[in-house]
Amino acid sequence: MAVLALLAGSGWPGAPAGEAGPAETDSLAKAGSAHAEWLSYGGTYDEQRHSRLAQINRGNVAKLGVAWTYDLSTGRGVEATPIIADGVMYVTSSWSVLHALDARTGRELWVHDPGVDRAVGAKACCDVVNRGVAIRDGVLFLGVLDGRLQALDAKTGKLIWSVTTVDQTKPYTITGAPRVVKDMVLIGNGGAELGVRGYLSAYDIKDGSLRWRFYTVPNPDKRPDGAASDTALARLANPTWGNRGAWTRDGGGGTVWDAIVYDERNDQVIMGVGNGSPWNADVRDPEGKGDNLFVSSIVAVDADTGHYRWHYQTTPRDNWDYTATQTLILAELPLGPKGTMRRVVMQAPKNGFFYVLDAKTGALLSGDAFVPMTWASGLDARGRPIETKQARYGDTSMLVAPGPLGAHNWHPMAYSPTERLVFIPAQEIPQAMHRDALMATRPVAWNTGVDFSSGFAPRLPEGTLKAVRAMLKGRLIAWDPVARKPRWTVEHEGPWNGGILSTAGGLVFQGTVKGDFVAYEAATGRKLWAMNLKSGIAAPPVTYALDGEQYVTVATGWGTAFALAAGFFFDREVPPKLGRVVTFRLGGNGTIPDPDLPMVERTPKAPAFGTPQMVEAGFLHYARNCAVCHGPLAISSGVLPDLRWSPITADPRQWEEVVLKGSLAGNGMISFARHLTPDEAEAIRAYVLDRANNPTG
Ligand code: CA
Repeated sequence: MAVLALLAGSGWPGAPAGEAGPAETDSLAKAGSAHAEWLSYGGTYDEQRHSRLAQINRGNVAKLGVAWTYDLSTGRGVEATPIIADGVMYVTSSWSVLHALDARTGRELWVHDPGVDRAVGAKACCDVVNRGVAIRDGVLFLGVLDGRLQALDAKTGKLIWSVTTVDQTKPYTITGAPRVVKDMVLIGNGGAELGVRGYLSAYDIKDGSLRWRFYTVPNPDKRPDGAASDTALARLANPTWGNRGAWTRDGGGGTVWDAIVYDERNDQVIMGVGNGSPWNADVRDPEGKGDNLFVSSIVAVDADTGHYRWHYQTTPRDNWDYTATQTLILAELPLGPKGTMRRVVMQAPKNGFFYVLDAKTGALLSGDAFVPMTWASGLDARGRPIETKQARYGDTSMLVAPGPLGAHNWHPMAYSPTERLVFIPAQEIPQAMHRDALMATRPVAWNTGVDFSSGFAPRLPEGTLKAVRAMLKGRLIAWDPVARKPRWTVEHEGPWNGGILSTAGGLVFQGTVKGDFVAYEAATGRKLWAMNLKSGIAAPPVTYALDGEQYVTVATGWGTAFALAAGFFFDREVPPKLGRVVTFRLGGNGTIPDPDLPMVERTPKAPAFGTPQMVEAGFLHYARNCAVCHGPLAISSGVLPDLRWSPITADPRQWEEVVLKGSLAGNGMISFARHLTPDEAEAIRAYVLDRANNPTG
């Protein structure tokens, strides 16, 4: 049987010996044709992103070449984990568009475009991305950016049912992958940067009827919702919130926008819960001094009912956008009595600590810093972070590390059960933070309570950007969760590199923001193979086998939060962002097509104007309204237009049409008339032209 021959320890020529690994316990893995397919977001229920395939291994990976490529026709963010079932690859792209491809050849079988209104793009904090679909018995499940959940025929792409999972008048979005658990499909949402109340829902896979819902933060009036979370909120969460403040208007945050794992052994769902909204805890909840449960927590609920089982809050009273939504991995580690195996759940959330919890009880087994940090000096005996004095910033700017982009963001980490290593795509992106003096609730705009101009000025001293760039770091950390320290580390050129794939071939695959797709030796971190894919990479690779041939696939294109903000990091050498699926096999001799990118003439289209006071005002309004999409300091990464070189900036009438009248709303650039007066909009134009005409290094 060809498939068996592909597996480690099965005698395939060149397969490393003794890597058969622990016995298979995951029924989804068993169903996956002995690992030849990739049937769920994290590979299996345990979401280790570790494949048993070993045809491609450390002895022959140098012969890896391109089998085929497929153009996703987008320049916006791509974060998808492709799903491979029955010889078909399902890969999502920006705006929740789903592509079905022949996994052998890359030939397009069908495309499903859910037709998202482009104005919804303004609600998406972190680009119009999608991280993938779920599949069960020939039915695909797709979360749509505007909050719909759709069931589609996997053969034809035909819509079976569609439900709206959110209040679409609020700034909810869905970017995450649904998970199928038993006869239910689970989906959360995002929106805590703009102000929503988070929850996880379970829908019946047959007709999309709601089975249960777990709210992660209380109702503003603290009354029951008639939902699965009622008892837990009343008993545990309500007392940790005051009775007034921005949370009672904005929802408090706690969105479940990424990690949702099914712990089959304990028949429970473990979810990662996002940051508080607004970020600034004293704006969010000025009255109480409580922990604001369950923001920034890992929460386990009964799979059938959604009833609370346990929680562990990684960041009590979150103040820094420290989501705990990052990858959750289930594994067996020798951490039980006398070195016996214990089932654990592991996470490396934004706050910079690597946590190992008992999966059944949620008891903290260990929590250790995996990056340098300024906000905490460790965990106390109860497992609470010991905050430093400067952590809770006020009106003066404080450099916070990790910054809100996190020591680890959504890019999935992976775990090798044979090496007993967790591979973390880690980073250092510190951020200066202080309270936003102009804080007010604005329905469709970032609403964090933090001033995004913090640490910057309209004109920076020469050398400032160079110094800031030098602070930003990215690294691949092979973390030993038993020894509680890294076994090896690879330093990258900068932050925001791709998700990870681990294989029984003794390999770890990762793409970089500069477009290098690299295979490392899992045991040592030695680089064994690399190819530049001519586009930045953020998505995690996957692997599968068909007709006796193992393939590795990664989607390129790298929008998302940091990408939108990254212009000042890359300055003149921003890597291209081309949505493309690239598949490799041993001996593949295909090529990556050259990018065909429009040239942007990097020159100001009008002279600077305005008084220094006007430019200063424009700088502040730019930071509050424009920077998260068009880039800090008016330097775009190229995902969205660089306003400095835009002819629209040069023309006051066109500027007004776009900024205040919404003439480009069809592209996602909605009117800011509710947030900016005409004078303020014109001051922003003065600031942008000042930046265009007086660049500083
Ligand atoms: Ca967030």
